[in-house]
Amino acid sequence: MKNAERSFWESELYNREHDLIIVGAGLTGQSIAYFYKQNHPDEKVLVIDRGFYPIGASTRNAGFACFGSVTEHMADMEIEEEAKIIDRIRRRFNGLQLLRQTLGDENIDYREPGAFEIFTDDEVFQKAVAQLDIVNRWLVEAAGKEDVYEITEINGFPAISIRHEGCLHPGKMMRTLYEKNLEQGVEFRWQSQVQNIDEASGVVNLGNDVQLKASQLAIATNSFTSSLLKEVDIKPGRGFVFVTKPIPDFKWKGTFHYDGGYYYFREVGENQLLLGGARSLDIDVETTIEFGTNEKIKNHLISFANNVLKLPEGWGVEKEWSGIMGFTSTKSPILKRISEKAIVVAGLSGMGVALGMQLGKEASELVRK
Ligand SMILES: Cc1cc2nc3c(=O)[nH]c(=O)nc-3n(C[C@H](O)[C@H](O)[C@H](O)COP(=O)(O)OP(=O)(O)OC[C@H]3O[C@@H](n4cnc5c(N)ncnc54)[C@H](O)[C@@H]3O)c2cc1C
Repeated sequence: MKNAERSFWESELYNREHDLIIVGAGLTGQSIAYFYKQNHPDEKVLVIDRGFYPIGASTRNAGFACFGSVTEHMADMEIEEEAKIIDRIRRRFNGLQLLRQTLGDENIDYREPGAFEIFTDDEVFQKAVAQLDIVNRWLVEAAGKEDVYEITEINGFPAISIRHEGCLHPGKMMRTLYEKNLEQGVEFRWQSQVQNIDEASGVVNLGNDVQLKASQLAIATNSFTSSLLKEVDIKPGRGFVFVTKPIPDFKWKGTFHYDGGYYYFREVGENQLLLGGARSLDIDVETTIEFGTNEKIKNHLISFANNVLKLPEGWGVEKEWSGIMGFTSTKSPILKRISEKAIVVAGLSGMGVALGMQLGKEASELVRK
């Protein structure tokens, strides 16, 4: 079909310049829209996404509302100084409070059913135990919470419990935020892939001759940012997750971490297990923006479920999927102005449920600075 020429009426409606265009309708992008519109109710705000719904990580994650297991903090100690780690814990903790207050626990199925890191290697467990005083002090400094990490045992495994960790339903989280944005008058264009942007003029090209203009642009495309802004260094990382069919005598009630946060599992629905991670097994192949299943990782997780978690015979996978995360070279996200008319926010490094809304709020404040 030939592109139709624009009518007078269409031109009046669709050639309007927006005050703010946000590219990317994930948790970060939609949070920018939400907080910006709260502070500038009369301004025209438009969110654009290439998907029929957001298709990056925000609706495809595991729904852990978490701020780090002990071995995850230990891995961070090797690459970052203490002050930065404490600051990130604070941001994750505060980000989760903001998310819950803004959306409401009942709307996003937020729960705290008990959280644990399990261990299969006694040496690793003892090393983690030796760090307990340090990480508990960090949680006091970051969030004012005492005795967050404690030695325990779960299902026959030595473990460290994590007080105040929770979980939620990522689909309901995004749905609630979307509805709140619609109520505020934020506009959306779905299935609109941005081909390129002109940071200097504030023009966004969608292809098919569609060009939109704004006095400010916010690029919130996380792992896909480098394809729009070559100078922003974000590495993609594909994450794989599956959910089992209901399992009789299900014993993994709660949220669980293993091996530096590389493996995670939790109960979803009724007696179903969500299991994901193990990206580290094939890291080069998983450094991709393509969705898909890596059979090596899937088979490894299946054998983890059989041999470590000891799921009863006959269990099966009901649903599997992948999502794409965006990583910076440290674990700290990027939030910066790139021109007079554009800011970028990206690289939530696998922690975006906790960080996304807080970062979106901060980005909304940077838009007019
Ligand atoms: C498998 C998996 C499990 C995870 N588990 C957890 C967890 O349990 N807890 C946690 O805290 N974090 C988790 N994360 C990380 C978390 O989901 C992300 O950090 C967070 O969702 C990032 O949000 P975002 O809005 O910045 O990016 P995204 O949600 O990726 O949004 C970016 C959006 O930009 C759009 N887009 C990209 N390019 C274009 C373009 N050219 N034109 C138009 N639109 C475009 C995409 O369609 C997408 O909707 C997980 C991630 C994955 C993949």
